[in-house]
Amino acid sequence: MIALSLAEIAAVVGGQTHDIPDPSVEVTGPVVRDSREVAPGSLFVAFVGERVDGHDYAAAVVEAGAAAVLASRPVGVPAIVVDDVQTALGALARHVVHRLGATLVALTGSAGKTSTKDLIAQVLRRKAPTVFTPGSLNNEIGLPLTALSATAETRFLVLEMGARGIGHIRYLADLTPPKIGLVLNVGTAHIGEFGGREQIAQAKGELVESLPPAADGGVAILNADDPLVRAMASRTTAKTVFFGESGEADVRAENVRLTDTGQPAFRLHTPSGCSDVTMRLYGEHHVSNALAAAAVAHELGMSAEEIATALSEAGSLSRWRMEVTERPDGVTIVNDAYNANPESMRAALRALAAMGEASRAKGGRTWAVLGKMAELGDEALAEHDAVGRLAVRLNVGKLVAVGGREAAWLQLGAYNEGSWGEESVHVSDAQAAVDLLRSELRPGDVVLVKASRSVGLETVAQALLATG
Ligand code: ATP
Ligand code: MG
Repeated sequence: MIALSLAEIAAVVGGQTHDIPDPSVEVTGPVVRDSREVAPGSLFVAFVGERVDGHDYAAAVVEAGAAAVLASRPVGVPAIVVDDVQTALGALARHVVHRLGATLVALTGSAGKTSTKDLIAQVLRRKAPTVFTPGSLNNEIGLPLTALSATAETRFLVLEMGARGIGHIRYLADLTPPKIGLVLNVGTAHIGEFGGREQIAQAKGELVESLPPAADGGVAILNADDPLVRAMASRTTAKTVFFGESGEADVRAENVRLTDTGQPAFRLHTPSGCSDVTMRLYGEHHVSNALAAAAVAHELGMSAEEIATALSEAGSLSRWRMEVTERPDGVTIVNDAYNANPESMRAALRALAAMGEASRAKGGRTWAVLGKMAELGDEALAEHDAVGRLAVRLNVGKLVAVGGREAAWLQLGAYNEGSWGEESVHVSDAQAAVDLLRSELRPGDVVLVKASRSVGLETVAQALLATG
């Protein structure tokens, strides 16, 4: 964080200082909520959780070097006491980002926020010091903590924003007002909670409404391939830039293909030039994510060549997203168990099919080990059925559907599409899937593991990797 005195912090958050002998002492270290992350000069933020009360750690964090605690009651060590710690944290973040010399880039969407945020960070940091959301810390606590980790050297601050309902993105964008706002897509993630796609679009579009007008440098970067995102152009006075595979997009991909290892390759077109990209990441959905990142980088003055090189070298920074590992015995495990929705299921199956083309020559087969896609509301049956059918159409060798009725729907889709009998298996849980695969896998096989977060299918990938 940029150095601020305890007196200044107390004033910004409207708090009372308690047990602070010298209010001119500065917070110089990170602002943290986890006592294990405290460093000398830290500000420790004491949240009251369901199981843990941060206030209980006050003495220990000061002992470890924290300058003070941001708390909701006096704790007997230096503290700034406020009514509501979360509101205070937000106010502090807002104050600090106004003083930073950094350009704020915020992004939201139904799928691919973390992947795209990681891509943007890996491209921008080639140009100047960049701070970005670690993992998926995209809510009202993670976002200010990330913003507060920026320093005076930071030039780009890249923030993932998650929306759980109307007003949520507006709140986040008010804490850390972005200059560049990117909307990736409006899918069906959390559709059960929102009520429908239009409501999701309404909530995500709050990001572009929050941007400054074009004359003040505001830029809305929108997915031209997604009609609900494209329509958001009418909700902003910022400059609009479109990315996508459609011919009208400002930043677009031509000659998109998957290499025989399942990695996307394309020719990147920007308004100032073209360059070829071959990604290290797997799955064609990353083309859209890469174009979004390219549009951001282009706005921030990078050339097509610089962007293409960075995109071609970018790796995954977040785990369990299309993590490809080859075992010593030649079996390849593709762990995409972080999460799943219909769009990403299709993309992952297509990547598996492309990898299968290459492995077939060596006698290998492809396996899709899939579990349920959560939060689909009324569309659940049709979407699981469609994924089962797609596995057949893509020539996947075997489908192992894991779990309850959604798994049954996956298997039924495969049965109805291709009269699949033995080619698809329905098992009740992850352990059963592991037992089956352990006895069946042979060198050259490629295994995709994917389901919604709540299914926890990464255990299957991990067990298979441990046996190899
Ligand atoms: P969360 O809401 O959990 O933070 P997120 O939006 O940050 O999710 P990621 O973590 O990047 O998304 O990816 C989640 C899943 O969606 C992964 O399985 C990934 O393969 C898939 N995915 C990534 N990008 C896209 C995309 N552009 N379209 C569809 N699916 C995608
Ligand atoms: Mg995320």
